[in-house]
Formats: sequence, C-alpha cells, structure tokens
Amino acid sequence: MTDREISAAQLKIKEWYARYGRDNLPWRMTDDPYHIYLSEVMLQQTQVKTVLERYYFPFLKKFPTLKALGDAPLDEVLKMWEGLGYYNRARNLHKTAQTLIGQAQGAAPTLPTEIDELIKLPGIGKNTAHAVAAFAFKQPVPVMEANVKRILCRLFLLKSPNDKHLWEYAYRLVDKNNPFDYNQAMMDIGATICLPKKPECGECPLEEICNGKKDPEHYPVKKSRKVPVREQNIQLHIYDDKLSLTQRTGKFLHRLWGFESVEMPQCATRHIGMVTHTYTHFKLVCNVFAYYETEPEQEHYFSVSEIKKLAISKVDEKIIKLYLHTISGE
Ligand code: SF4
Repeated sequence: MTDREISAAQLKIKEWYARYGRDNLPWRMTDDPYHIYLSEVMLQQTQVKTVLERYYFPFLKKFPTLKALGDAPLDEVLKMWEGLGYYNRARNLHKTAQTLIGQAQGAAPTLPTEIDELIKLPGIGKNTAHAVAAFAFKQPVPVMEANVKRILCRLFLLKSPNDKHLWEYAYRLVDKNNPFDYNQAMMDIGATICLPKKPECGECPLEEICNGKKDPEHYPVKKSRKVPVREQNIQLHIYDDKLSLTQRTGKFLHRLWGFESVEMPQCATRHIGMVTHTYTHFKLVCNVFAYYETEPEQEHYFSVSEIKKLAISKVDEKIIKLYLHTISGE
C-alpha cells in the first residue's frame, strides 16, 4: 500500500466520520481525561449500549473526579460496577486513582499524558494507554480494539495476526494530522460496517485499499474455543429468613460478597436447583442447596433487601433469584 493510497484512504475515513460517526457519545464530547479513561475501561468486554444506559453516568455521578474515586472505599466502587463483570477493572481503576492521588501530593490528581507513563498504572495495558493518549490527549497514535483488529486483518490479509504486526500496520495507517476522528471512525466502521459476518463492503470508506474485501470473512481465522465447565456446590445458610454471605478473599471475584461453595453439601440440605453463568474462560455450573439453621452457624447474615446494597456477582444474583423463586413456591 503506497503513501498516496494511505493518504486517500485517510481522507475518505475523515469524510465518512463527519457524515456517519457516532460523535454524540458522551465520552467523545468531553476533554476530561478521567471520563475518557473510565469509558475506555468500561467498554473493554462490554457493549456501548450497556455502558451508556446503565453504568457510565451513575458511576460519574458517584465518583465525579479521580480524587473522589480514589478516596472512596473499594466496596462502594465495586457496588457501582455490579453486573458489569470483570471486576478487576473496577479494582484497578480504584488503585490507579489512589496511585495518582499519592503522586499528586495534595494537588488534584491527573493522568499522565505519555503512553510510557500510562502503561505503568494498574490495569492500563498497551491498548488502553493508546486509547487514553489518542482520545484524552489527542496524540497521533492508533488505537487497537477488537473491531479495529478485524479491519486491519482484512485490509492486510492477516489470518492469524500477532500483536507486533497489527501495531505496525496500525501505526502505518493512522492519520497523524487527525488522530481523534480517525481512531473514532475506525472503531465505528468496525462496529457498524466491517462486521464479523456479512460486512457491508460497498458502504465502507476503506474499500479501495482493502485487500480482503473479496473474502472478508476469512480474515482473521476464527479460533474454535471449547469453554471448559466448572461445577460447584453452593450451600445457602439460611437463618431466620436471612442468608449468609461472605466477602471473597481469593483472586476470583475478589472483595465481592457471595455464597459459600462446598465440596459436599451437608446432609440436612435440600437441592433447590441449578444456575449457570458463562465467563470468558469457563462456564460455571452451580448446584444450589438450601440449609436451614436452627441457630446461627455463620458470621454474617443478610435479608434480601440488605443484600441488594452489597456488591455481588452476577452468578450470586442468579442464586438469589432461584432462592426467592423457591420460597415463593413453598
Ligand atoms: S472493505 Fe469490507 S472487509 Fe474491507 S474493511 Fe471495509 S468492510 Fe471490512
């Protein structure tokens, strides 16, 4: 691909974005690096619609600044993240805010502008650092997310791309004079035109330079992935209409409240049903048992309305639904 072809494509991308770009997204209408950083973290593994409708605004209302975020207890941050999944993102946001507060030494904390510095912060990898640099600080660098990767694979006929090649192509293609619109456009083209199935090449501003347009669905090659299944027995300790939950200390769902998983449920338990939940790397199947205690055997008990104020995971939410369904039928 020649420099001239790339310049022509950049112009088309720019024109396309001016006409069709989703420039009304709130994180595209702000200059606040914290708001942009937050949106980038929320949008990892999560659709724009979900972030927009349920999480972005309430989170910012509760924690309007990096200082407010870092000063808040982690439990409150996790509560605002509840249901969004991948809770490490919330823990790392909180840790980053605290790190920046420490570095600011009494002044208002701010994110660093350079990729090398951004990448040192908890949970900020190469992709997020580039996105924050490009969108918050208008630096002439490309962004890389799933949609952009797919476009690059098709443009350059990459079946099984490695990161090094993808970044090389991304840097070659980025419009250094207009990085903000260019990057937003690439993400929008990937989300609306260069779809995984049946991309609409006739509508695409990259069509002229695209090597993969004859056979787009062959790039990249889809990896077939069989998700392993993990089974767990969950024993609900119930006393006086209250349920016992503990705060997790292990790596998985760390600091979230949840129900006890046991090797073997106690004899006096009753099997009340099964819930399943699929994570990125495995599917969790929980056999749920109810155990009615005659006197409290655990440390913490909560009514269902009290549980609503705790940060719990999706799978524990499902377990509560199952429990409520069971007692309503008793
Ligand atoms: S021409 Fe088709 S395959 Fe190529 S980038 Fe555009 S939509 Fe994707």
